[in-house]
Amino acid sequence: MKLTIENDNIFITDIVLNTICNYRCSYCSPSLWAGKTRLDNNDILWCIDEVKKKYPYKQLTARFTGGEPTLNPKISNLLKELYNRNVHTHFITNGSRTLRWWKENQKYLSGMIVSVHTTYAEPDHIVDICKVFDQHKPIVISVLIDPTEWNKSLDNCYYIHDKLKNNTNSYVMRVLVEDKGGIYTPYTEEQKQFLSHKKWNKLFDKKINVDWSLITNLLYLNNEYYDPAEAKLTGKDNFFGWKCYAGIDGCRIREDNSITRSACGLDSEWVLGNIKKRIINLPDDPVICNKHACICLTDMQMSKETIN
Ligand code: SF4
Ligand code: SF4
Repeated sequence: MKLTIENDNIFITDIVLNTICNYRCSYCSPSLWAGKTRLDNNDILWCIDEVKKKYPYKQLTARFTGGEPTLNPKISNLLKELYNRNVHTHFITNGSRTLRWWKENQKYLSGMIVSVHTTYAEPDHIVDICKVFDQHKPIVISVLIDPTEWNKSLDNCYYIHDKLKNNTNSYVMRVLVEDKGGIYTPYTEEQKQFLSHKKWNKLFDKKINVDWSLITNLLYLNNEYYDPAEAKLTGKDNFFGWKCYAGIDGCRIREDNSITRSACGLDSEWVLGNIKKRIINLPDDPVICNKHACICLTDMQMSKETIN
């Protein structure tokens, strides 16, 4: 069995830019919104340059997460520097910055993954910032389907999809609320059934004409399209014992300046260096997965295969 990525010429660096946030989503770990860390631009650029030395032929992608990465006061400078290095950049963001801010900064971005958090998000603002982006830049609108605000979450999906139905560069995706250190409310069986409905994606089907590889890498399990949300509902996100190419297809810069193969691991085999100490050892070999679930979309984007 193989989980392959559409474009294996991409190296993605997942960067936990800061641990502050202007929202307080109930399901979120306070360590993501009440932290005090902020990575230094020069340290990040050093790391990106080192990755480029190792993989001069690969297209580098920087994915900024947090906390809320757009709150970093020096982010615009960093985006410009990366743009000048031909690095593709995007945020996983709650989208709450002003329209003016997005207009200014989208120039340097390759696209956006905007998360819609039901308690706080303003759907009209989300729609407006999506429209600010150049039409060739892909946008994933990740609506968190909050089991405690079920109807409102679904209403947001329908509303945003409808408002953007003529924009061929964006689509609405369902994202499941998981147990990640906040208050966790499991889905009811009925909710799970609805979410795993095979036709779910058809509800938000529309004409799309965009190069997704600018922000993400589509996945295929034995050549069949692999839907991460569906996988999470059915246990197909468990790769225990598989060979995983985290560290080769991408890496993560964590909030404490360490570099690891992925978000999932801090074991010694997963640690690759530290941007503050100017240490980086990108591996040539995959690791054997020792976890029972791939915890985030970026980790899933590392290719994997069973051991024969
Ligand atoms: S889930 Fe995202 S938007 Fe919500 S509090 Fe956490 S970091 Fe902020
Ligand atoms: S949990 Fe980590 S090691 Fe396992 S498949 Fe996912 S990224 Fe790879």
